[in-house]
Amino acid sequence: MNPRAHSLAADSSIKSFDVVVIGAGFAGLYALHRLRDQMGVSAHVFDAASDVGGTWYWNRYPGARCDIESIHYSYSFSEELQQEWTWSERFASQPEILNYLNRVADRFDLRKDIQFNTRITSLVWDDKNKLWEVGNEEGIIARCKYLIAGTGNLSVAKKPDFKDFEKFKGEIYATGSWPHEKVDFTSKRVGVIGAGASGIQAITEIAKEAAHLTVFQRTPNFASPIGNEPLTPEAVKQVKARYKEIRTKSRNSFGGMPYDKALPSAIAATPEERRRVYDDCYWDGGFRMIFDSFQDLLFNKESNDTAAEYIRAKIRERVKDPKVAEMLTPKGYPYGTKRPPLETKYYETYNRDNVTLVDIKSTPIEMVTEHGIRTSNAEFELDVIVLAIGFDAMTGPLLSMGIIGRAGLALNKKWADGPHTYLGITTHGFPNLFFITGPQSPSVLYNMPLAIEDHVAFATDAIRYLREHDLDVMEPTQEAETQWGALVDSIAQKTLLPGTDSWYTGANIPGKPRVCMIYLGGAPSYRKICADVEANGYTGFALDRTAAIAA
Ligand code: NAP
Repeated sequence: MNPRAHSLAADSSIKSFDVVVIGAGFAGLYALHRLRDQMGVSAHVFDAASDVGGTWYWNRYPGARCDIESIHYSYSFSEELQQEWTWSERFASQPEILNYLNRVADRFDLRKDIQFNTRITSLVWDDKNKLWEVGNEEGIIARCKYLIAGTGNLSVAKKPDFKDFEKFKGEIYATGSWPHEKVDFTSKRVGVIGAGASGIQAITEIAKEAAHLTVFQRTPNFASPIGNEPLTPEAVKQVKARYKEIRTKSRNSFGGMPYDKALPSAIAATPEERRRVYDDCYWDGGFRMIFDSFQDLLFNKESNDTAAEYIRAKIRERVKDPKVAEMLTPKGYPYGTKRPPLETKYYETYNRDNVTLVDIKSTPIEMVTEHGIRTSNAEFELDVIVLAIGFDAMTGPLLSMGIIGRAGLALNKKWADGPHTYLGITTHGFPNLFFITGPQSPSVLYNMPLAIEDHVAFATDAIRYLREHDLDVMEPTQEAETQWGALVDSIAQKTLLPGTDSWYTGANIPGKPRVCMIYLGGAPSYRKICADVEANGYTGFALDRTAAIAA
């Protein structure tokens, strides 16, 4: 029994709900709508931010833009919404996506059931009463039967660990928690640390404004053009006329985008054919280079080398100074094993007189000083430092909420050697807890709004099933979880991903267990597994009214 459950039982200020949802981004907004408006259960959302948006609320840095086409990176659950909303660009900018999510919140009247400015720091399962206790820094604020974590995969920033970082006297910004007001870089000497997807977008824009920009890059990336352009009224009309068909096609493709041109094998193709495919995909933009060229790029190193070499050649073509081009050229890891950033004239940015690239792998940052950054062979005076150093991805958001399950088991302890889940949405020992696009699901390699819709549907259908069958507790069995972990791992081992240091494997955070955190079998096979589990009355789950689930 949880002792706190009794002491708080009489406290009427603690609200009770059927379901509590954490996070008011894509996942939380849809979960609330589905639970409250389509199922008629009481649901409440908490979010640390002061408004809706999740990722798109926090990541307001200059140049922030989605890497999946706007018409695909959007909700499919409401045909009316799809028809009403019109995207202005092929790849939506952060402000436009935030406007969209605000529109969704207004259209479905969601804000009245969302409590903002509330960071959840404690989620404790009460074994006796079969309830979750939801708490913030001040104590328990709610109880609920079911908990849905819509906390995203990239919402806990990596902490800067540069020596004497706090001594810097200039301005400091982080891409993942950018100010709401415009940051003025005019006449300033700016240093950006990090050249991943966020850094690449921010660098391109900041260079246009700053007096001087110094980029501190550790590992170069395989970036390729995003291919953004305005969407014409005719293109929008055509999409809207066949949105249903487009969504079905998306859900039936590996990454959740309706690409269907990929040929089986790069290495089996002739050099001329490869060249033609890569030329098409490179300039067509989006994730076509990785998902719509050849199907074996993530599985066959020889095939992968052909794509990697193509992109390397493009970097050498686009960057005028051969020494800088060499520094920007990725080596030593296969293409696509780090999420490939998409760019708009990023490489040309290094042809500008006001931009300097510093290789901090060969000359590491030794310390931050009052006036800038000192590497092992130079000192750079700066007015502004921008951190674009990434996230404690996938497990970080869940492990930051103080989740304690059955018999006092802490999620941090259970996942000390990496995430253990069933289907990437539940974990043994933590009844009635669903995490949307969690580790060991296709998540970040599946177009996120669709992946979210699928998981929200799974979680809410499960809740509906329990209610309809006079049950109220659901928990995956240890056996099902072990088998799922083995399947996820066996698929990962057939790919090139586990060998690369990336946030996919936790290798970007010192001390984090190194394990591939993504189900790499693709969205269609994953969706089929989940559908079968559901159709068979939730295979792999213990369902009960009494919480008497064997440990
Ligand atoms: P990231 O890909 O993890 O990149 C972080 C960068 O910071 C890397 O260059 C990394 O170098 C560097 N770094 C980290 N710690 C460092 C340290 N201590 N010293 C020096 N350099 C350090 O993070 P991100 O750019 O924020 O992107 C994360 C993900 O967010 C993306 O992969 C993508 O999924 C998503 N995202 C999407 C978009 C979009 O939709 N277009 C935009 C931004 C982000 P190493 O590689 O050497 O570790």
